[in-house]
Amino acid sequence: ASKQAGRNRATFFSDEMGVEAKARDLVELQLKHAVENKEFTLHFQPRVSMRTGKVVSAEALVRWNHPQRGLIMPSEFIAICEETGLIEDLGQLVLELGCRQAITWHQTGLDIDLSLNISPRQFENQRLLQSLERFARHPDFPENKIELEITENVLIGDHDLIAEKLSTISKLGYRIAIDDFGTGYSNLSYISRFPLHCLKIDQSFISQLPKSGPIISLILTLGRQIGATIVAEGVESCEQLAWLRDHDCDEVQGYFLSPPVQAKNLPAMIQLLNLSTGVIRDAHEKFI
Ligand code: C2E
Ligand code: MG
Ligand code: MG
Ligand code: MG
Repeated sequence: ASKQAGRNRATFFSDEMGVEAKARDLVELQLKHAVENKEFTLHFQPRVSMRTGKVVSAEALVRWNHPQRGLIMPSEFIAICEETGLIEDLGQLVLELGCRQAITWHQTGLDIDLSLNISPRQFENQRLLQSLERFARHPDFPENKIELEITENVLIGDHDLIAEKLSTISKLGYRIAIDDFGTGYSNLSYISRFPLHCLKIDQSFISQLPKSGPIISLILTLGRQIGATIVAEGVESCEQLAWLRDHDCDEVQGYFLSPPVQAKNLPAMIQLLNLSTGVIRDAHEKFI
């Protein structure tokens, strides 16, 4: 009987794996179709200046608008896209949607910057530079108001080549941010070599405050030395906000201020946040 059970189990497991592999194939196929049909949309999460309490920027975060399942978050598809190469077309789509949005904001007088996430594979691809050049030629291109977020891992490799690429992008009128700073590649020598305008402290450090205080202080000092704007990601509480304000962090982003919202809801969210600058001041006074 035990032999029988063992055999059944073996079949059971291999069937399970078959099902999983098939499910993954299906997602891949659906994703390919989705990229072709442009079933993606951007949500925008405001970034608030600690100095003025005003919204200065918004990060574009992609969502898959699945015809049956509704909105799907990037954790379910970005890695698959990166592995299969679909990210090149998806990244292109995001870049187009994002740049068009930034141009619209500029034209309608909404004075905020825009951040776009660029995947490692997309950064490698020559198409990125071509597209960035094309958008930069638009008569209403908002110069130095579009920021490209790359992760530290993108900076591994030939530093001369990377430095050249970053400086080309920078000269075209885009800013460069390092996303999830402190979690990736640990060689810090690149910091002073590359044109970096912004460091985004990874949310894992923010969620571990005050224990992670010394690391955040170090990043703040480093950022100031190179003249970069420091942004804290994933701010979820008044205590975290107060700590960051007391340590002169430049900007904050996180659910405590606002979740990512649809483009059509962004102006109202900005208005609400701009009216409640007191949130930041109160956080300061309460915990000083
Ligand atoms: P990220 O670029 O570090 O973006 C921040 C993520 O943290 C977003 O998740 C955001 O919704 C979430 N977040 C914001 N505030 C809070 C908070 O207070 N607490 C917590 N726990 N989370 C917060 P999302 O939208 O699910 O995106 C996840 C990741 O997917 C992004 O991390 C980014 O790496 C990637 N991603 C998103 N959009 C794109 C894109 O257009 N292209 C590429 N290549 N990657 C993207
Ligand atoms: Mg990001
Ligand atoms: Mg991040
Ligand atoms: Mg992240």
